[in-house]
Amino acid sequence: MQILLKINFILEKQEIYRCPHCGTVLKKWLCPQDSSWGIEFQFVCFNDLCKYYVDGWDWMKKQYNSKSSYRYRFNPVNNEFGPLPVWTENTFRSQIIEEDKS
Ligand SMILES: [Zn+2]
Repeated sequence: MQILLKINFILEKQEIYRCPHCGTVLKKWLCPQDSSWGIEFQFVCFNDLCKYYVDGWDWMKKQYNSKSSYRYRFNPVNNEFGPLPVWTENTFRSQIIEEDKS
């Protein structure tokens, strides 16, 4: 019984979402405190080779002459998704919530 409870707990904890652009498992990501999303965390593709992100640099340059890009972001509360603007490779990386691998 104890073991079963533990397995259920682990399964429940593992919410796996994949990026539709590169297939990478999205990382659980803590929303900035001052964000308007009003939720604690979302899921973001942090793959630096993701086409969505790579093409974003060109797109932002052409559209806005801006040195920035965006990453695929998924909101698990309302299933909404969209771009998360980033201005360097490491923007928002510190807010990735690393899952306990033990
Ligand atoms: Zn991706």
